[in-house]
Amino acid sequence: MTKDEIRRYLEFYQDLGVKTIFLGSGSALSAAEIAPAGLPAAPLSPLPTAIPAKTPASDQTFPLVPPLAPAHDSLAKISEDIGDCKRCRLHEGRNRIVFGSGSEEAKLVFVGEGPGADEDEQGLPFVGRAGQLLTQMIEGTARKEGIPLARQDVYICNVVKCRPPENRTPQPDEMEICGQFLFRQLEALRPKAICALGSTAAKALLGTKDGVTRLRGKWQEWRGIPLMVTYHPSYLLRPYNQNAKKEAWEDLKLVLHYVYD
Ligand code: URA
Repeated sequence: MTKDEIRRYLEFYQDLGVKTIFLGSGSALSAAEIAPAGLPAAPLSPLPTAIPAKTPASDQTFPLVPPLAPAHDSLAKISEDIGDCKRCRLHEGRNRIVFGSGSEEAKLVFVGEGPGADEDEQGLPFVGRAGQLLTQMIEGTARKEGIPLARQDVYICNVVKCRPPENRTPQPDEMEICGQFLFRQLEALRPKAICALGSTAAKALLGTKDGVTRLRGKWQEWRGIPLMVTYHPSYLLRPYNQNAKKEAWEDLKLVLHYVYD
């Protein structure tokens, strides 16, 4: 690997929030194993816990990090790689993995926090009360703005794919482990824009501690894709958040016009 390839490789991991890598010796990747984006074409492996010592195939030493974004990735491949996932504690309480739903051709992707009870039961994102509100927000705003758009035209997924117990906020390690699949979904789709619903999605995608109030209403960016943060529909369901509802509608109008005009 050249210095430049190693730098890009490490930046990719930094974007994922991986803070520790393990130095070891191993065989250098051939040019054929490097995907066009500069990422290895090999299949996904779990995040490193410990790298066993290997017989050095060359005397070159470089950081051993697992390849995370195979070339020619697809939603089907990502779902297959997730498999019957037991990578974090969230699998213990889940009924169904909630991978995501919508169009593979979507120009717009919504990212929520994690499945609730209804989603866990059906295996589909945003199908409970918050989901109904999200559907109304997407389709109602589009209709008012004269944009022909239905929920199935966009793609909807979450930061974590298994329901956290008692609907608690996902913990940092759960977000980090599951985040690799979210990032692959977004890379595979490469939509025209992303809408992050609530602070967990904003944190996972932007790596910021800033809250929604501070971030919303202005374009951010995730790997070159414009990203709008807005309120999570569950927050908007609370009766005392009427002003936030108006703001969320404003955010959505900005997003829909940017993507579909
Ligand atoms: N809340 C989320 O963040 N995601 C869902 O899928 C449902 C509720």
